[in-house]
Amino acid sequence: MAEIRIKGIRKTFGKVKAVWDVDLTVQDREFVVLLGPSGCGKTTLLRCIAGLEQVDGGRIFIGETDVTDLQVRRRRIAMVFQSYAVFPHMNVFDNIGFGLRMQHLPKPEIEERVQATAELLHIEELLERYPAQLSGGQRQRVAVARAIAVQAEVLLMDEPLSNLDALLRLEMRAELKHLLDELNTTVVYVTHDQVEALSMGDRIAVMKGGKFLQIDSPIKIYDHPTDRFIGSFIGNPPMNFLTARLMDKGAFVQVNETKLPIGPEVADRLRATGKDTIWMGIRSENIDPMDVHAEGTLPAHVLVVEPLGSHNLLTAKIGDAIIKVNDHPDSDIRPDQDIWLRLITEKIRWMDKDTGQAIN
Ligand code: ATP
Repeated sequence: MAEIRIKGIRKTFGKVKAVWDVDLTVQDREFVVLLGPSGCGKTTLLRCIAGLEQVDGGRIFIGETDVTDLQVRRRRIAMVFQSYAVFPHMNVFDNIGFGLRMQHLPKPEIEERVQATAELLHIEELLERYPAQLSGGQRQRVAVARAIAVQAEVLLMDEPLSNLDALLRLEMRAELKHLLDELNTTVVYVTHDQVEALSMGDRIAVMKGGKFLQIDSPIKIYDHPTDRFIGSFIGNPPMNFLTARLMDKGAFVQVNETKLPIGPEVADRLRATGKDTIWMGIRSENIDPMDVHAEGTLPAHVLVVEPLGSHNLLTAKIGDAIIKVNDHPDSDIRPDQDIWLRLITEKIRWMDKDTGQAIN
């Protein structure tokens, strides 16, 4: 059992609250991604779990053990860093076997495990080579192999793919996900790349300013962000936000000059906030652009059309606001054209104009 329980963890550097009073339980064999912008505290939290940073408050448990005051090597974890950290003076075989030698395993067992791990990562042909004789992707595989070979119950990964070029990164992402699925290890994975987080994690913990904003499945995070920041940070393009005014005791919202009807249940929720204006969040794929006017659509003016193969991405203006809209790849909509947008009502996410928090 390698559940990780983090309770009230705090870590400061001088006046900087790098991690501030966070709680998180990572289930046994779960893959949790810590995601957030640069400086939000992801790496610090990971280093606290690893024991590379001493916490200022709170406790960390791995399985039943309180590891808060345990040394790194007693925590039954393995780590992969962004900078690979493979030993340049050791060949691939010795790099992968390093942790096993530290555990004083018998030589035949080390050989067997190194061989098996190398095969898993398709680097069995490279065992005699030194890191300088490897490509970036190969070196990264060695770093992963070295962490996996020790068969730790917990694997901590800090931006392990960020030094790779875009294509290799895409390839390694799928490969690593497949590998980690097979290994059944508990994984905490740090990244600032939202696509990596969405595609790999069982759950994503979104961090900002040393705290968690939302911890949920990738689809929940994407489709039901609890905060405007999350909608803007996750997804490419980010979620669109328009200002809506609550009208007629909540039966309609008005966006610029257009009145859009809302259901009674939504109306109740919005009215309960006591606010007149609200953020209306909607993703580009949940808007249908049309070249003729229809009832209940928003007029917009197309600025840019980007053909992306699978769809065209429109940048359009609604009053002062800019909105991104997905269009069919064979559409006739062109720049400088007036269009009308039908929003898929059930996909609209309402957020408080002052706090940015979702209105539930
Ligand atoms: P990045 O994606 O850029 O690596 P991060 O989310 O991992 O960012 P951390 O590296 O955890 O963020 O840093 C959190 C905050 O703590 C930042 O403000 C950072 O400057 C500060 N910090 C981190 N390590 C130290 C340190 N050793 N000394 C002083 N301040 C630090």
